Amino acid sequence: EASQIPQRVLFYKPYMSNGLADRLLLEQELHKALANEEFYLDFQPQVNIKTDKIDSVEALVRWRHPTRGFVSPEQFIPIAEESGLIIPLGKWILETACAQAKIWREQGLPPMKVAVNLSIGQLFQQDLVHMVQEILQCTKLEPKYLQLEITESMTMNIDQITQLLHELKTIGIQIAVDDFGTGYSSLSYLKDFPIDCLKIDRTFVRNIQHNPNDEALVSMILSMAKHLRLKVVAEGIEEVEQLAFLIDGGCDYIQGYLFSKPISAEEISNNFKELHRR
Ligand code: C2E
Ligand code: CA
Ligand code: CA
Ligand code: CA
Repeated sequence: EASQIPQRVLFYKPYMSNGLADRLLLEQELHKALANEEFYLDFQPQVNIKTDKIDSVEALVRWRHPTRGFVSPEQFIPIAEESGLIIPLGKWILETACAQAKIWREQGLPPMKVAVNLSIGQLFQQDLVHMVQEILQCTKLEPKYLQLEITESMTMNIDQITQLLHELKTIGIQIAVDDFGTGYSSLSYLKDFPIDCLKIDRTFVRNIQHNPNDEALVSMILSMAKHLRLKVVAEGIEEVEQLAFLIDGGCDYIQGYLFSKPISAEEISNNFKELHRR
C-alpha cells in the first residue's frame, strides 16, 4: 500500500510541472471571468494611408484577472476555444465592439469601422449569421461598419465557409483575412470567398528592411491584392522604414505601434481629434 503513494506522486508530478494543473485552473477561472466582468476590449487604430485618417479600429479582448493581473489573449483564447467558452465570450466581444462603435458615433466621432476577430469555433456555431444580425439590430450599428476577421486556418473547409461568408456578406458586413500568408492553405479560396481585405502578418513586415525575401513576399501580396481588388492592412508596423516601403507598395492601411498601441475606448474618444490630425 505504501509503495503506491510515491507512484501516484510520480504520476502526477510531471503534469503539475508542465503546467497542466495551472491550465485547468485558468480554464475554471476563465469561465467565471465572463460573469465577473473581468473582460474588456481595447482598440487599435488602423490608419488609412491615402487619407492619413483613422477610419477603422481592431477590437482586441483583454482579461484583467483579479490576482494574476493581465493575462494575454495569446494565452487564454486557445483555452477558450478548446473549452467552448469562446462561444459566449465571442458573442460578448461582438456585442461590446458593436455597441462601442455606436457610442463613438453618438459622441460625434467620424464613422469608424470596427474589426472583430472570429475564432474557428464561432464560424461553426449554428446561428452565427443570425447572431450577427441580431447584434447589429440591437446596437443599431450600420452593417458596413462591422468587419469580421477570419484566419486562413478557417479556410480549410472551403465549401462550408464559402456559403457562410456569402450569408454574412448579404447582411452587408466586411470580411478580412487575418495573419495572411502564415497559414498553409492554398490561395484558391481567394477567388471563391467574398473577401474585402487582407491583413499581412507582422512576421513578414518585421524584417522588411533587412530581408529581401520578406520584401519580395510583401510586394507580391500587395500587387496580388490590387489585382483582386482587395484592401490590404499591414500589421505590426513599428518603424518608419517599414511604413515607407508599404506606402511605396500601395498598401491601404497600417496598424502598429509606430502609430498607436491598442488603447481603451475612452482613449479613442479623447484622443480622436489628435489621432486624426497626425
Ligand atoms: P491578431 O488578431 O493578429 O492581433 C494583432 C496583435 O498584434 C495584437 O496582440 C496587437 O496588440 C499586436 N500588435 C499590433 N501592433 C503591433 C506592433 O506594432 N508590434 C507588436 N509587437 N505587436 C503589435 P494581442 O492583442 O495580444 O492579441 C494577440 C492575438 O490574440 C490576436 O492576434 C488574436 O489572434 C487573439 N485575439 C485578441 N483579441 C481577440 C478577440 O477579441 N477574439 C479572438 N477570437 N481572438 C483575439
Ligand atoms: Ca486580428
Ligand atoms: Ca493578425
Ligand atoms: Ca496574430
